[in-house]
This record gives sequence, structure tokens and C-alpha cells, in this order.
Amino acid sequence: MAISAPRGTKDLLPGEVERWQYIEQVARDLSRSYGYQEIRTPIFEHTELFLRGIGDATDIVQKEMYTFEDRGGRSITLRPEGTAAVVRSYLEHHLDTQPQPVKLYYIGPMFRYDRPQAGRYRQFHQVGIEAFGSNDPSLDAEIVSFTWDYFQKLGLTDIRVEINSVGCPGCRPAYGRALQRFVEPYSGSLCDFCRDRLGRNPLRLLDCKDTGCQEILADAPRLKDYMCDDCRMHFEKVQNYLQVAGVPVTVNEKLVRGLDYYTNTAFEVTCPGLGAQSSVAGGGRYNNLVETVGGPSVPGIGVAIGLERVLLALEKKGVPIPIEAPEIIFVATAGEGDFEAFRLMTELRRWGFTAEKDFLGRSLKAQMKSAGRMGARYVLLLGEEELREGKVTLRDMTSGTQTAVKREELFKVLAELRNRRQ
Ligand SMILES: [Zn+2]
Ligand SMILES: [Zn+2]
Repeated sequence: MAISAPRGTKDLLPGEVERWQYIEQVARDLSRSYGYQEIRTPIFEHTELFLRGIGDATDIVQKEMYTFEDRGGRSITLRPEGTAAVVRSYLEHHLDTQPQPVKLYYIGPMFRYDRPQAGRYRQFHQVGIEAFGSNDPSLDAEIVSFTWDYFQKLGLTDIRVEINSVGCPGCRPAYGRALQRFVEPYSGSLCDFCRDRLGRNPLRLLDCKDTGCQEILADAPRLKDYMCDDCRMHFEKVQNYLQVAGVPVTVNEKLVRGLDYYTNTAFEVTCPGLGAQSSVAGGGRYNNLVETVGGPSVPGIGVAIGLERVLLALEKKGVPIPIEAPEIIFVATAGEGDFEAFRLMTELRRWGFTAEKDFLGRSLKAQMKSAGRMGARYVLLLGEEELREGKVTLRDMTSGTQTAVKREELFKVLAELRNRRQ
């Protein structure tokens, strides 16, 4: 029986993989402009890192992690997100002793045992940037601006950025209690999710999509009325910086990130027309995460962008992806000439051209056909006469013209042709 790829995973074949390379390259180029350097952390980590770094009360930790015991009896987990590992690495390599802020980006696969559907996989891919060591509101704005620019560069210009402040451990608990007091009388009408969260994490009620819950919360107290002066100022400045950067954002007071180490800025990017999968990026400030993972008190902020969603959006909106196909030079010959063809092909490759030849012992005529099929730009013909006289026939597959070229002049001729088109 043939074996298929595991449910929720996907092979990326030639033809599709170029689309991935493109959206990854745009992210790399943009990260460089913004001064973020790449970090590559392992695909798996000690499970403990995610228990601390994501929170053991979350759905991710409780239901979605790929956790297993390795042969040494250690509990190992395939990373379900990127931030925790970057924080671990920042601490392990004492990056907090370097000039701050330390600005890092990552690209790679993440793993969650989730129900697969369009745009959602068990192995999915994210681009993320993280900045450590500064609580300056302009850094929050930089992260949002990076996210905005990324989608603009890809041609996804109709994205929507929602932003909020979730306060800080100084002001948020008072709000949580007020919210709890307000909702308590209606707790019987809440959805299961909210009833479960009311005692532990009342802020999460705010982003519940259940209409019943939303009705109950319509007149609930608002976080901004409980925010301390520092948080209020921070949020205002973030918005001012974003205005300066020309990044349009909408304040959504119901946007919360439910974990204790999230502070101040929270934001989410949605792309209309993607249905249930419209969320394409999310981020925020996590000034207490580094400490939660076991380090000193170091502020941090970051964003993660879902690449499957990005590609889905590009496809749904019919945004063209510029894919540069290599210009192929096909060396055609027959019989004994194949040694010469192999030599010439190898030379061409060492000169930096993309070169091919026949590998199936086909006739010259069939070779010309296959050169056409693979979209070769030029064919170099090594017939009996050419071999005898030390030259090649250069056939331009677009115009159909043929010229005889001496072997010692071939590189010059091809280089000129290439320069002319650039
Ligand atoms: Zn505060
Ligand atoms: Zn609810």
C-alpha cells in the first residue's frame, strides 16, 4: 500500500515551492530593511519551555501540542509557535548583555494538532520578528509597520490592522475584577468557553464570538477606563507613531491576548475574503514573558505572520507572484557527441548559466522537442560538422534564428546576449 503524507501536512512541489520562496524572500528583504537578523532555533524544545512560555491553561498547550518522550525519557515538544524558543535562545546566549534592542526574525514550520481545513495545517509556517530590551512605543509601531509593509509589498493592500492595549499587571487585574463582577449575574447565559474562563481569565470573554456573550458584554466596563497613566500614554504614543508611519489602524477594544505576560499593545491583521481564516498575522508586547521563561525582566514585542494564509489570500485575490524562471541553454547532440555535450554543459554551468542536455539517449529531433518543452531559451547544437570544426550552432528558440559560433567565442557571445536583456 502506498504511504501518504500525514493528515494536515503538505508536500511543496516545484511549481508551488517558488511561491513560497518568493513570500519568504520578501520577508527576508523587509527584515533586513528593518534591521532584524535571522535566528534559527530547533524544531523541538523541552516541553517545559512551552508550558511556561505559552501558558499551561491555553488551548495550544492543553490540546494542540505534539509532545512525546524521547529515548532518554525527556519530554520533547515540536514547537507550536516561534516566540518561546527565541526567548529561550536570547537568554541562553546572553543576548541581554548585547546592545539593546536585540531584533530577530525567524521563518519556519510550526506544529499544532488542530483540525485541518483550508489555510490551516498541522505543520504550518510562520514568519515572525521579535524585539527585546526596549519598552519604547516607537518599537511597537515599528513591529506593526513591518507587518503592514509586508502585506503591502506582496500586493495584499486591503488588509485591516486592529490594535488595542491590554494594560499591564498594575492596572489589568482591577479591570478583570470589574468585568467579572459585571458578568457574574449572567454567567448562566454564557457559552461554555466563557463560563470556563470567567474565574481564571475574564479578559478572554471580550473576544468571544458567541452572539449571546457579545450581547451580555455590550455594556460591560471598558479596559481603557481602568488603564493606568503609563499604559494610556504608551497606547497613545504607539498610535501617534503609526500615524507618522502612515499605517492605518483601527482600535478594537475587544482585541485581547489572554495571557498574563502580554502587556500594552496587542494587534491583529485580517484579510477580508478569507472566511474563517481571515486572521493572517497577530502580535503584541510581552514585557513579562522573558521573566516567565526564567530570565531577568526584559521587555519584548513581536508578531507572527501565517504563511499558508498569506498564500491563500494571494491566490483568492488573484495577486500575481513574480516568479523568475531560469533561462535554460540546452546542449543537443547525438551519438558519440554526448561526451562533448556533457563537457559543454558543465562549462556553461561553471560560467553561471543554466544548462541542460538529454539524459535518455534520444534522437536529435526528439532532443529539440524536449528543449522546447522545458522552455529552453537557446539550443546549442553539436552536430557532426560542428564537432569536426570546433564550433556550435546557436539556435534562438524564440526567434528561430541560427548562428554558427566558434567554441572559444561562445562564452563571450552568450554573455553579451545575457547582458543585452538585463
Ligand atoms: Zn497599566
Ligand atoms: Zn462566550
